[in-house]
Amino acid sequence: MIDFFIVVGYCMSMMKDKNICRLCPRKCGVDRINNMGVCGVSRTPRIAKAYLHKWEEPIISGDTGSGAIFFSGCNLKCVYCQNYPVSHDAVGEDVSVERLAEIFHELESAGANNINLVTPSHYVDAIISALDIYRPNIPIVYNSSGYDSMESLKKLKDYIDIYLVDFKYYDAELSTKYSMAPDYPDIAKANILKMREYQPENVIENGIMKKGVIIRHLILPNHTDDSIKILQWIKDNVDQPFISLMGQYVPMYDASKYPQINRKLKPLEYKLVLNKMIELGLTDGYAQELCSATETYTPIWDCQGVK
Ligand code: SF4
Repeated sequence: MIDFFIVVGYCMSMMKDKNICRLCPRKCGVDRINNMGVCGVSRTPRIAKAYLHKWEEPIISGDTGSGAIFFSGCNLKCVYCQNYPVSHDAVGEDVSVERLAEIFHELESAGANNINLVTPSHYVDAIISALDIYRPNIPIVYNSSGYDSMESLKKLKDYIDIYLVDFKYYDAELSTKYSMAPDYPDIAKANILKMREYQPENVIENGIMKKGVIIRHLILPNHTDDSIKILQWIKDNVDQPFISLMGQYVPMYDASKYPQINRKLKPLEYKLVLNKMIELGLTDGYAQELCSATETYTPIWDCQGVK
C-alpha cells in the first residue's frame, strides 16, 4: 500500500512538472493550469482581437493591413502600457490551437500582408502547435517586447519571417522601475542579435517586408538619454539596422504614479532623439510623427475575429 502511494505521488509530481511554466525570462515556475504567473493567463491562448490592422509600420500594414492577432496577458507589464486592458486585465476569449490555426487562415484569406503575432511571448508553444496545423503562405511576424527567452527564439526559428521587436530600456534602473524587469536590457540585446542572426537580411518587395528585423523604440518623457544609448548600441552592434522610432507615448494605466513619465513627449525631446538617429546614420526605417500621440490609434478590444 505504501509503495502504491509513493508511485501515485511520483506520477502526480511528474504531471505537475510538465505544466510548470518557465517559458519566458520571468521563469515563474507556476503551474499555469491552476495558478497564474506574471503574464496572468493560462497556457490556452486568449485573444482580444484578430483583424486587418492598418496602423503598423507601412512595410508591415501595406494597403490591405497586417493580420494582427492581439494576445491577452503580457509577461512584461509596463506601468504605462497603452494596451493595458489586454496586457494587464487580460480581456479576450480563450481559443484552442485548432481555432488559432483557423484564424491564421481567415486573416490570410481576407488579404492580410502577414500574420502579426502581437505580444506572443507567453504563448510560444501554442503558437508553434497552431502553425504546425496551418502554415500560411504569407510572412509570420513575431511582434514582441523583446523579453523572450533564448529557448523560445530557438524553438521559433523556422517559423518566423519578420521580427518586430521593441528595445524599451538601456538602463536596468528604468526597466526595474517601469517594468519590474532588471534583466530586460541584457535580454533584449541578446535577443535582437539572435533575431538578426536568424533573419540576416531585410527583404522588402513592392513596399512590403517579407523577411527581416525591425527594432521599435518608444521614447519616454524625461528619458531621452536612455533612447540615445539605445540608438548608439544599435549603431555599434546590429547589421542593417531598420528602426521604428516612436513618439506616440501617452501616459496611461499607472503612469500617474510616476511623475517623470506622467506627460506626453515634448517636441524638443523628440527632436533631440531624432537628430541623434540621423547623426548616427540610422536612416533606414521610420520616425513617427508626434501628432500620433493620441488614444485614437488604440484598437477597440471587442474580440473581433476571435470566435
Ligand atoms: S510565460 Fe507567464 S507564467 Fe510562464 S514564465 Fe513567463 S510570465 Fe511566468
